[in-house]
Amino acid sequence: MAQEPGKVKVSEAEAMELAEASRQKEWRRPSFLREMFLGNFRLDLVHPYPLPPTDEEERPEFRAFYVALREMLRTEVDPAEIDATGEYPDHVVDGLRKLGAFGMKIPKEYGGLGFSQVEYQKVMHLFGSFDGNLSALLSAHQSIGVPQPLKLFGSEELKTKYLPRCAAGEISAFALTEAQVGSDPARLQTSAEKTPEGDYLLNGEKLWCTNGTIADLLVVMARDPETKKISAFVVEAGWEGVKIEHRCHFMGLRALANAVISFTDVRVPAENLIGEEGRGLKIALSTLNDGRLSIPNGSVGTAKVCLKICRKWAAERVQWGKPVGEHEAIAHKIADIAAYTFAMEAIADLATQMSDRGAHDIRLEAAACKEWNTFRAWQIIDETMQIRGGRGYETERSLAARGEEPIGVERMMRDYRINKIFEGSSEIMHLFMAREAVDKHLEVAGSIIDPKKGMEEKAADFLQKMLPFYASWYPTRWLGWGRFPRFQEFGALAGHLRFAERSTRRLSRAVFHGMVVHGPKLQNKQAFLFRLVDVANELFATTATVCRAHALAEAGRDEAAKAAELADLFCRMSRRRVRALFGELWSNDDVRKYKTAKRVLAGQHAWLETGILGLEATARELQPEPVVGEAPEPAPVDRPVGAS
Ligand SMILES: Cc1cc2nc3c(=O)[nH]c(=O)nc-3n(C[C@H](O)[C@H](O)[C@H](O)COP(=O)(O)OP(=O)(O)OC[C@H]3O[C@@H](n4cnc5c(N)ncnc54)[C@H](O)[C@@H]3O)c2cc1C
Repeated sequence: MAQEPGKVKVSEAEAMELAEASRQKEWRRPSFLREMFLGNFRLDLVHPYPLPPTDEEERPEFRAFYVALREMLRTEVDPAEIDATGEYPDHVVDGLRKLGAFGMKIPKEYGGLGFSQVEYQKVMHLFGSFDGNLSALLSAHQSIGVPQPLKLFGSEELKTKYLPRCAAGEISAFALTEAQVGSDPARLQTSAEKTPEGDYLLNGEKLWCTNGTIADLLVVMARDPETKKISAFVVEAGWEGVKIEHRCHFMGLRALANAVISFTDVRVPAENLIGEEGRGLKIALSTLNDGRLSIPNGSVGTAKVCLKICRKWAAERVQWGKPVGEHEAIAHKIADIAAYTFAMEAIADLATQMSDRGAHDIRLEAAACKEWNTFRAWQIIDETMQIRGGRGYETERSLAARGEEPIGVERMMRDYRINKIFEGSSEIMHLFMAREAVDKHLEVAGSIIDPKKGMEEKAADFLQKMLPFYASWYPTRWLGWGRFPRFQEFGALAGHLRFAERSTRRLSRAVFHGMVVHGPKLQNKQAFLFRLVDVANELFATTATVCRAHALAEAGRDEAAKAAELADLFCRMSRRRVRALFGELWSNDDVRKYKTAKRVLAGQHAWLETGILGLEATARELQPEPVVGEAPEPAPVDRPVGAS
């Protein structure tokens, strides 16, 4: 039956199946976090900690680029101006082009600079400290835009055709999201119908495509209306039928060239298919998995700027007879910011180095870095605003006009917030990690909790798979040794690694206990699963922090003793959080909260929304246009939302 162009019916079950099939399941190389979920504290995977090269140790070619870029940013770019005008100045984009910044990650044989991950991320760190708009421009172009999927999956022909263009500064964008599909792209609707000649006809509309209004090249994910399989294509923005429908504007990142793009009978040549047909979602998810280190590295730059702002301001600003930084409430915030910044850099640098070495699978580590660093950086920005007081809330131009130092904390806050939402929201990062946390258990014991499996199959699996695995795995998760004198070479910080080792085994037991107690319902117990992920992330940060401090000492670096102080403080704070998280696994208000939320959603607490103005839309009107073939969910309340 012919489908309406751009509309394909996809059931929830089909979408779930596709999402699962598109998951990167193979673990060819070890992962520190994956081992952690199984109760194996594989210190050997992260220790000795690979310190990034010092300025003197860097490749001269990279150093020259970095110094020139830094100089250009310092002298030619005004982030407040970019924010105020909401546009990228031509001279800035051209300047970046001339430096080769659009080809940093593109191999030299295709005209790029061929930077390593460590080099590229050092640049993203710099941008993160300076301007969110430019970070987003470059990151959308080469962390997820055309160069990344082509590098990972593109044919030689596609690489030869497009990578030199990207390197020369033709801007690219990544088009996955649609009005109906954000976090669950498996239900995407844009269609790619195969023509008798073997080309594809693209129809549909993509939302929030970063760089969309200025892009020359797009990666577009679309599905075959017959087979429902999703494929990925390189699409040229100048082709007939590609139209910018709208430029989107946001709370921050005011210059973001973000677009709604429609595709009407766009003819895509067969050779512009990236990878194999039907692998589009896997390509999109792998691209995101691989490109995910830019945001956490940029976040480290942001956190460091905040640290500097707070250090200077809290030492200078005198209230109630002493600098505000000496009042305990503010002092604690400053200590938190310093300790968290050290930990953020420890995990981001570690995952980045691991990515370059290629000996590890860093999907989970990259997700942990993205989730953890964006959570911490947002907190740090919030505290920086608090420490700056009214000046934190005032715009930098207004401060300058009054003769004060133009420090744009409010701009930083507006620009930063999106990092917890795009390229995999915090919740989706948790879900992604939680799925991997239970993976081995699902493999071994999945049939036992699968309601679709019969008793005979369950019994066979119990005897053949579960019993042999758990008979040795479970007792050994109790029997490891995480006490003195283990890890003695880490000196005063050894206790934190011992805690991490013990907690790793405890974490894996908790994953198992969760499966036993909650059975098939575990997949819906997000609060439980997210706590497990939070524990893993804290333990990852603790381990990275201790190993980094140790490596700095081993390398005889001047800052080693100071780093050990921050590492120790961070680990102490983290241990309290881990203990609390473990406690909350089994003592919490999860069920009660969920029930209350359902009643709120059903409108039973709309009585509380009295005495307010605004948001007169009904719940139904808040929904995006429903997908063809899917009955719209009945709106929970028929009355205007928020109407008094
Ligand atoms: C400024 C900006 C730039 C962007 N750039 C691009 C781009 O270049 N290319 C592109 O393709 N997309 C882009 N996006 C889209 C972005 O990736 C999505 O916003 C993101 O994937 C979340 O989708 P959503 O906003 O539709 O939220 P929804 O999916 O509707 O989710 C709403 C909330 O529910 C949570 N949630 C959703 N599902 C679950 C679940 N199963 N369990 C728990 N919580 C859940 C989410 O985390 C979120 O908090 C951009 C968006 C913005 C705002």
